[in-house]
Amino acid sequence: MIIAIIGGGASGMAAALAASENRNAKIILLEKQARVGKKLQATGNGRCNLTNLHALEYGYHGDSPEFCRYALEHFDPQETLKWFESLGLFTVSEPSGRVYPYSDQANSVLDILRFALMKENIELKTDWEVIRAKKRNGGFILENGKEQIQCDKLIIACGGLAGTKLGGSLSGYKLLQSFGHTCSKLRPSLVQIKADWKGIKALKGIRANCRAAIFCNNQKFASSEGEIQFTEYGLSGPVIFEISRDACSRAGKWVAEIDLLPQTDENALIQELNRRKSTALTTDDLLTGILHNRLGRVLTKMAEIPFGIAVQQVEEQKIKKLCKLVKSFQIPLKEPLGMDHAQVTAGGIHTKDFLESTMESRLVKGLYACGEVLDIDGDCGGFNLQWAWCSGRLAGHSAAEL
Ligand SMILES: Cc1cc2nc3c(=O)[nH]c(=O)nc-3n(C[C@H](O)[C@H](O)[C@H](O)COP(=O)(O)OP(=O)(O)OC[C@H]3O[C@@H](n4cnc5c(N)ncnc54)[C@H](O)[C@@H]3O)c2cc1C
Repeated sequence: MIIAIIGGGASGMAAALAASENRNAKIILLEKQARVGKKLQATGNGRCNLTNLHALEYGYHGDSPEFCRYALEHFDPQETLKWFESLGLFTVSEPSGRVYPYSDQANSVLDILRFALMKENIELKTDWEVIRAKKRNGGFILENGKEQIQCDKLIIACGGLAGTKLGGSLSGYKLLQSFGHTCSKLRPSLVQIKADWKGIKALKGIRANCRAAIFCNNQKFASSEGEIQFTEYGLSGPVIFEISRDACSRAGKWVAEIDLLPQTDENALIQELNRRKSTALTTDDLLTGILHNRLGRVLTKMAEIPFGIAVQQVEEQKIKKLCKLVKSFQIPLKEPLGMDHAQVTAGGIHTKDFLESTMESRLVKGLYACGEVLDIDGDCGGFNLQWAWCSGRLAGHSAAEL
């Protein structure tokens, strides 16, 4: 039996290794780039957040997020860790549940997978872009414009459109569509959001802990708590990635509301600033010791409090205005950055046409799909790679009849 896998990314490599456990199967892994796992190398800021111990169905989105339950239960995060351990990778888990290679290098994860792929029954073909795939004689025929490959079973693991510079493309969607599958609307997710406010430049480079929410015409869409990073043109950081999925998804007035002191009540903050009236502090340092100095000054200016005067001269009204800004700093939003900058694609090939227990197409026998090409996207923190590993392994085992 010949099993061809299109895409040498996270899910494709996992599928190849799983399928190769059937020694009578010959696996052909096809990758359009010069090397496998280019995107994997860039994950987690070069550290590769390879799974999350809390990755269960609730952290996933799509038309039918429950589709991922079976794969996640069969190859859960603990199973992923055991699998990597069996391949020789040492890992470390953070209290948040995020897991990284002990070396802190994404390269280690990729190298371990590349070594594992050096197996007698796995043939790796790089620089091999599948441009067409057709059903032929009960199997499939794949073309790259120069050569053809025949196989009995086919796994499509081409990933999504996100991270275009790292190999993200429409290829997988198109190949699956050519077999009659349909695709939902594609949107960038886990991505920075552009602000529609010139003042943002003054905050460039600042990081803060916060609770952030996004609103469209005053209706709340999503909220999360964690680190925010202000950039030259907008908002970034894990907390923003978490809520970026829905940002600006329809016409309306979109605003981010940021609570820069989620653990402190507004009245307690007012009390503290009033206490500062009895000190020698000037308004330059009104929020010193509470927020990042530059952020504190920007907010002080926004509250129309002049710099360089004694805190005791500040009217109560202005103190309250400043505290309101700290607790609900509102920043008008433009749109998320594009697919180039996104970590994952929201939307994809409809999962209703696949069997969740095997990842096989309900439309074409012997055809499988896994990873980001399907309409499943996960939260920030290792959820997307966990989906790639578990769906890839399930597809590989099923195709190899294991
Ligand atoms: C910058 C960045 C950081 C990220 N960090 C994390 C993180 O820390 N943790 C986490 O969980 N997730 C992270 N992600 C998301 C995660 O990397 C992806 O969800 C995951 O790689 C998807 O796996 P996949 O196998 O479906 O697709 P991919 O890993 O994208 O692999 C698809 C492969 O298919 C190849 N291909 C496509 N079309 C063809 C074709 N026609 N013929 C041959 N080959 C083809 C591509 O070149 C590519 O190598 C990050 C993503 C990005 C962009």
